[in-house]
Amino acid sequence: MAPENRLPDDPIRFVQDQVRRGRILWTYHVNMRLAGRFIPREVILAAVDTYELVEAYPDDKYLPSYLVLARHGSDAFHVLFAADVEGDNVRAVTSYRPDSRVAGRPQAQETEAMKCTVCGAELKAKSTDLPFKVRDTGIVIVKSLPVLQCGNCPEYLIEDTVLGRVDQILAKVETGSELEIIRYAA
Ligand SMILES: [Zn+2]
Repeated sequence: MAPENRLPDDPIRFVQDQVRRGRILWTYHVNMRLAGRFIPREVILAAVDTYELVEAYPDDKYLPSYLVLARHGSDAFHVLFAADVEGDNVRAVTSYRPDSRVAGRPQAQETEAMKCTVCGAELKAKSTDLPFKVRDTGIVIVKSLPVLQCGNCPEYLIEDTVLGRVDQILAKVETGSELEIIRYAA
């Protein structure tokens, strides 16, 4: 066992098991929907059976990470997962289509006490307000959204159940207005 990183015995299987169990945490930029070719959470989840390992980064600073190729219908995309063996979860660090751009590979993740992906400091539960893009023109600001916020840097993660609830909230938003403000309620 490495001093810092505990590696899963079978990385792809570990990632798939955690995704199937809902033990997945999302970085906001994966899901902010502000990027042009946003890959929805439900697509990443639905593609779980197709995950293939593209590249392993076992020496990442805080958690080992794995670049995965996933397919959904005719769509193919990459997801970078960080594997938190001790904390029993994975984090979807970034996702992109291989033909669109190379996403920067981030530096780390959290662990048992939920360490920050970026700086290793402890993450704490808090609530915040975040914008999400809805279709082409609308922005919804979700208020009082529970997140795990780093105590030391701007990084934060969103739990899968919370993001699933956000998806439900956004699906009900009327298309008419350019800006809508909705309070998150679990
Ligand atoms: Zn941090």
